[in-house]
Amino acid sequence: MNLEVIIGLEVHAQVATSTGLWCACSTDDFDAEPNTLICPVCVGYPGALPVLNAKALELAIKAALALNCSIPEEAKFDRKNYFYPDLPMGYQISQYDQPIAVKGKMQVEVGGEKNKKEVGITRLHLENDAGKLMHEGDWSLVDFNRSGSPLMEIVTEPDLRSPEEAKAFAEELQKILQTIGSSEANMYKGQMRFDASVSLRPMGEEKLYPRVEIKNLNSFRTLEAALHYEIRRLSKLWEEGKAPEREITVGWIEEEQRTQMMREKETAADYRYFPEPDVPPLKISPKWVEELRASLPELPAVYRARLIEQYDLNDQEAEIAVTSINLGRLFEQVAKESGDHKRARTFVFSALLSHLNKEALDVSQCKVQPEHLVELIKAVGAGKISASVGKEVLEETYLTGKDPLVVIQERGLEQVSDVGELEGICEKVLGDNAGIVADYKGGKEKAFAALIGKVMAATKGQANPNMVTEILKKKVG
Ligand SMILES: [Zn+2]
Repeated sequence: MNLEVIIGLEVHAQVATSTGLWCACSTDDFDAEPNTLICPVCVGYPGALPVLNAKALELAIKAALALNCSIPEEAKFDRKNYFYPDLPMGYQISQYDQPIAVKGKMQVEVGGEKNKKEVGITRLHLENDAGKLMHEGDWSLVDFNRSGSPLMEIVTEPDLRSPEEAKAFAEELQKILQTIGSSEANMYKGQMRFDASVSLRPMGEEKLYPRVEIKNLNSFRTLEAALHYEIRRLSKLWEEGKAPEREITVGWIEEEQRTQMMREKETAADYRYFPEPDVPPLKISPKWVEELRASLPELPAVYRARLIEQYDLNDQEAEIAVTSINLGRLFEQVAKESGDHKRARTFVFSALLSHLNKEALDVSQCKVQPEHLVELIKAVGAGKISASVGKEVLEETYLTGKDPLVVIQERGLEQVSDVGELEGICEKVLGDNAGIVADYKGGKEKAFAALIGKVMAATKGQANPNMVTEILKKKVG
């Protein structure tokens, strides 16, 4: 049976504010003791009133603009009512029929430049997070630290056609949110989560069949794996003539790499949405929206293309620059200030990155400063040290934070470029290696490289190789 896969995503990303959506509690909850970042508002004490965090609105609108959404002039918040132990108020303040952003689109690349795909963004809205349940033995414990943290929910059209496309979309979205600073979207800290809807239909049909919603996928890998699993399961049902007739919600069991039926999918009516009486409707000024649009930084797709064009980076390096935003910024700064983008490229994407990767560090966590790299690149460019010595110096600066020029001086690493000194060394090497000299004179071209090697060894690699070549040519050529 020839079946087409239809996938849509709902992405929850924590908005990068320092305080909650409705209260002043810190959102920095990752290492916090349970229930230490709470107040009467976020645990729903009677009489506590929510006040909208303006910064959260601003960051969410910036995200929406980066996703090419329209921002209606009026928006409102609604109560989404449901009971769950991690939801102390018995409702979530979300947005139902008047979200802050609608009708956007995003480009995503799947398997190379040529396969650009446009994915429709249905809407983007703001809502608060719930708390977190932890199960220990016979007990279930609840931590409300996260309750009230601002979330953006980004909903796509069912435009995705494979788990790979869904994963590529999610990865690119993460980069966009991080680049504009709307969300740190750190998967490890649970700042970005996905619900994926999937259905199948006979190829060529236009109608959509009841979908399965897979809840709460917390990594790109599980997003892809869960979709693959559901597609296999649904294909089998279709083959057996048992295509789903109702929408269902399933969960992903990581240990068993399978989904599990949770419930029939709830509908909007089940949540008894009604306008939130404690938060006034929003009037969003188009002038403010335009100011936010003008403040957006370069988005990943444009940035990637520019890095390749302007600095000759390869696709992989450009991707690293987009993913590790700080490393990309460092590279550009060093390339500009040193005026030598070729060496900047080698030092940043090869030498420095290999040290960082070994320890899984971000460049902001290491001791190497942009000016260190500029000094090093200039020293190599001026022939003061060789490129390989440059890497050694970088290693010491990386470990100790010492200025590269100090390292070069302290360890006497400066390249020997003194003609008289080099001539003396070359003469000694020629005298000690008469056999190699004879080979070279007898026509063995390779013997010349051996002689250069001997001189480099005699100077512990510090001889200026161009000068050595010249001197040797003069003496044996
Ligand atoms: Zn609070």
